[in-house]
Amino acid sequence: MKALTFKQGIHPEYNKDLTKDKPLKNAKRPEEVIIPLKQHIGAPLKALVKKGDQVDLGQKIADSDSFVCAPIHASVSGTVKEIRKVTDPGGNIVDAVVIEAAEEDKLNSGLEKHDSLDQLDSASIRKIIREAGIVGMGGAMFPTHVKVSIPDDKEVDYVILNGAECEPYLTVDHRVMVERPKSIVFGLKALMKAADAPKGIIGIEENKPEAIESMQDAVAEENNIEVQTLETKYPQGGEKMLIEAILGREVPAGGLPLDVGVVVNNTSTAAAVADAIRDGKPLYERSISITGRGINSPQNLIYRIGTNIGDLVEEAGGLKEDAAKVITGGPMMGAAQKHLNVPGVKGTSGILVLVREEVENYEPSPCINCAKCVDACPMFLMPTQLVNYAKNDMVDELEEWQVLSCIECGSCSFVCPAKIPLVHHLRLGKAQVMAKKREEN
Ligand code: SF4
Ligand code: SF4
Repeated sequence: MKALTFKQGIHPEYNKDLTKDKPLKNAKRPEEVIIPLKQHIGAPLKALVKKGDQVDLGQKIADSDSFVCAPIHASVSGTVKEIRKVTDPGGNIVDAVVIEAAEEDKLNSGLEKHDSLDQLDSASIRKIIREAGIVGMGGAMFPTHVKVSIPDDKEVDYVILNGAECEPYLTVDHRVMVERPKSIVFGLKALMKAADAPKGIIGIEENKPEAIESMQDAVAEENNIEVQTLETKYPQGGEKMLIEAILGREVPAGGLPLDVGVVVNNTSTAAAVADAIRDGKPLYERSISITGRGINSPQNLIYRIGTNIGDLVEEAGGLKEDAAKVITGGPMMGAAQKHLNVPGVKGTSGILVLVREEVENYEPSPCINCAKCVDACPMFLMPTQLVNYAKNDMVDELEEWQVLSCIECGSCSFVCPAKIPLVHHLRLGKAQVMAKKREEN
């Protein structure tokens, strides 16, 4: 089968060999979890517990009346020690519930278990997905129930599962596809039913042959689901890139996949949907790659949300002597951390530790107008021009030249020979346009 792809993009070193063959295993159960109360794109949540409360594993501890949100659940049974401000992996100061773990866990989520989807209609599936607090697990953390709530004036014919995992180093989606293919297919069927979509496609980059084989076996009996091989290219896992590669449909500027009849979800998200429906299990744990040349024993773990990332690093043998930089997520879109005293959240798919020689500090030099950034950009933007506008507060021009279409993939920064931190300026440019829009409304 021909591997499909999108136009432009880049080919960074993938470095997946460090963990791709490491099976998922449960991390040690933490003695304390610190669970931030905002782990999704959307409205902030209100705590439903207070200091001194006893909570069960999977119990809802925060929620909101807003549509765009996803509730949060206790990741251990135990006692609420306090609610306090913490810094999350994205650098935001947020409220967090601190739970001291009891000796044992008792699952008590209030979610019913369903062996099959036959007795569930689309609204009940969406409700389970919402109540289980499921968000996009590729890192975006957009509430999944919102994605599959299709407005009356739209129709969806495909749910695409993103199994590209195009970020270098990360191998958790790969492992979930190898180890839990049937759960992914169950979750995909649930998402298709929730969105009323007749067809499903699982897109996987060709550098994951074991995952392709595993998922092909799992869909062999399904007549409306197929596996599509994708070229290994960054950012192949971007929603718009996946849709262009697989269906040849172009999401309009400022538009959504829904505008071309598609909903995109991550493969690990689909497995979480299956866990919620079949086992009544909310999203209180997830898998993570702890990897990089600065880690003693790179591996893939399943950890409770709210576990300190320093403890996960210790479980992977700790830092090497020449460890120089810690990033949560992957090297292209991840967030650099100042220290390891940070809780892992629903979108934390990796802890990457780079060594000194990999993080030499480059001084940016002036732009030489080589246009490499333009050739790399999968959104066909003009990064260098946008950066000039951002630096000079030219908000109208930023908007006119589509800065909001930037998916912050980092491809332009990666190829820039002058080492200009283009994405940093692009983020600031996007923030300027958003601020202007808020003022106008
Ligand atoms: S301008 Fe945005 S979308 Fe284009 S390459 Fe740079 S970060 Fe990616
Ligand atoms: S890649 Fe860097 S040096 Fe080349 S045009 Fe873009 S910003 Fe300038």
